[in-house]
Amino acid sequence: MSAAVSPLRPSAGNPATRPALSDSLIADLNTKSDAVRALLAAAAAELGTDGEIAFANSFGAEDMVLTDIIMTGGLPIEIFSLDTGRLPAETYALIGEVEKRYGATLRIYFPESGAVETFVRAHGINAFYDSVALRKVCCQVRKIGPLGRALAGKKAWVTGLRAAQSVTRAGLPLREFDAGNGLEKFNPLSDWSETEVWAYIRLHQVPYNALHDQFYPSIGCAPCTRAIAVGEDVRAGRWWWENPETKECGLHVKEGKA
Ligand code: SF4
Repeated sequence: MSAAVSPLRPSAGNPATRPALSDSLIADLNTKSDAVRALLAAAAAELGTDGEIAFANSFGAEDMVLTDIIMTGGLPIEIFSLDTGRLPAETYALIGEVEKRYGATLRIYFPESGAVETFVRAHGINAFYDSVALRKVCCQVRKIGPLGRALAGKKAWVTGLRAAQSVTRAGLPLREFDAGNGLEKFNPLSDWSETEVWAYIRLHQVPYNALHDQFYPSIGCAPCTRAIAVGEDVRAGRWWWENPETKECGLHVKEGKA
């Protein structure tokens, strides 16, 4: 399977490497963003317009595109985020910027304090470096648990995943049934390229995480994310001490896979 090495790296947010906004690229973006709006509007018409569909916003570049499309399009999609307690300062700054830009207070879910305290007391504050198993427990406590609460009662959720992001996301469909969480899952940017994501951000002046300009193409928790080097896979900076096949936090893992 081919790795998702971007020709735009080392920094897609670097002004020197952002794509030029040609007429054809703008036309392509308009077509694709119209398709996203249509997909989400159809999903809402089918599944409900009163909070039945939720968008999990982790404030990466793709999620900022979706945030802009949902907010400016007035789509009846609830937006929520997970605060693991270990996010980078730049992500918190972006959350504030998003609230200001769109005039909305975001719905943020936190881990259960008792579960975090128990885990840290048993294994240490940075146990995720000790083994894949402990890393997955940390993700379970800080992400999967809160995600379950965020998705409770929902009929569908929306993600900013793209097929080209990693070996674990190849062949990602626009719509699938998320058996693990028991609801529909929409991936409206599945067929978007990295170039298109950054061109949309540039075209619409969408705020984005300052870490993207510091060689961080994929951003998660601060201790589990590092900058990448030229030629590295775009997700090489996530859980960099693990093998590529294990690099999912459990939010988007299909049943039957690790
Ligand atoms: S990404 Fe790292 S710090 Fe964040 S929940 Fe997973 S293991 Fe814990």
